Amino acid sequence: MFKTFLIKYGEIGIKGKNRYLFEEALVRQIRRALEPVDGQFRVYREQGRIYIDAEGLYDFEETVEALQRVFGIVGICPVMKMEDKGLEELGNDVIEFLSTVYDMKQQTFKIDTRRARKDYPIESMEVNAYLGGRVLDAFPGVSVDVHRPELMVHVEIREKIYIYSKIIPGPGGMPVGTNGKAMLLLSGGIDSPVAGYMIAKRGVKLDATYFHAPPYTSERAKQKVVDLAKQVARYSGPIDLHVVNFTDIQLYIYDRCPHDELTIIMRRYMMKIAEYFAKETNCLSLVTGESIGQVASQTMQSLAATNEVCTIPVFRPLIGFDKQDIVDISEKIGTYETSILPFEDCCTIFVAKHPVTKPNINAIKRSEQKLAEKIDKLVQTAIETTETIRIE
Ligand code: ATP
Ligand code: MG
Repeated sequence: MFKTFLIKYGEIGIKGKNRYLFEEALVRQIRRALEPVDGQFRVYREQGRIYIDAEGLYDFEETVEALQRVFGIVGICPVMKMEDKGLEELGNDVIEFLSTVYDMKQQTFKIDTRRARKDYPIESMEVNAYLGGRVLDAFPGVSVDVHRPELMVHVEIREKIYIYSKIIPGPGGMPVGTNGKAMLLLSGGIDSPVAGYMIAKRGVKLDATYFHAPPYTSERAKQKVVDLAKQVARYSGPIDLHVVNFTDIQLYIYDRCPHDELTIIMRRYMMKIAEYFAKETNCLSLVTGESIGQVASQTMQSLAATNEVCTIPVFRPLIGFDKQDIVDISEKIGTYETSILPFEDCCTIFVAKHPVTKPNINAIKRSEQKLAEKIDKLVQTAIETTETIRIE
């Protein structure tokens, strides 16, 4: 029965020019999210509001689900939109609306009118009182509760009149594209897809880098990362995924450096290469799924050693999260099932039995000197042979 949605978004802190950019980006992201949905939609801004009109038949559930992945949306309100034909007609419309959507037996309700069109001849309070009376007459058993109504009936008087009562929660956050772009280090694990989701939620567009180590890691492990990128892209929009062939670098480090420092040195090269692609593609930061103390390579000392090679900011949105908190988000966003598929990861293969947990940066740098002969060439080759996959 609903042909129109009113989209609510957070307004705090978005004034002037920023507000315009925010709304433009939100409209763009809504259009993108609705593209794969069955139906024709018109998305438009009107008087500081965003509306979606469904033209013809469409799938309500699918539409709402798609909108629930658009960052920046705080609430999705299915509305009845009608012409202004005077107060008495409006009363009829409200009654029709309520009897179609609810069974109207013992509910308490409240009418909340907003008069955005100031030339409307009757004040909001009067409209509330009139409509409240009509509803009480129409549905025996219902009563008014202005403090905690079970049913809040919103009536917005604009060029047209909008009636709605349900506000389906959106994901919140900011529309992707309003806060620049970041390079996500995406592995096949649970954490990095969640980290990407969280950064995208702040309005940041994403690209991603994955370090692949064939034949130690299989095509299926790579496919898993592609699948995870697709799932993140449902929220973030298209992602360029750089698949770096990391095998020769790993083998060389394995050959030349102390094995207890392997993971740290490897991670330093991952960061360097990811930073190269970040700069190449206008990303302003790196994003990882690291969390303090989760494993040996994520102690404070290890994070410091890894971070030391970077010249752009590294964001670690999960830094203070327990594993279970991260799992909960991954289940919510739908990446968990893919993340737990049992394919090998390039870090687990070369991992030492007793990795250092308190690496000393100077010691690490001394070890890295043993790589001087070939490492630049290997990094160069890894960059040149990187495959970039466009994830829609
Ligand atoms: P995740 O679940 O994200 O794989 P993890 O708990 O397995 O994390 P690590 O393997 O130590 O932790 O990786 C820490 C972070 O480093 C990851 O969250 C990811 O951002 C990055 N990373 C690790 N391995 C790779 C890889 N093969 N390719 C790209 N990034 C990686
Ligand atoms: Mg991992």
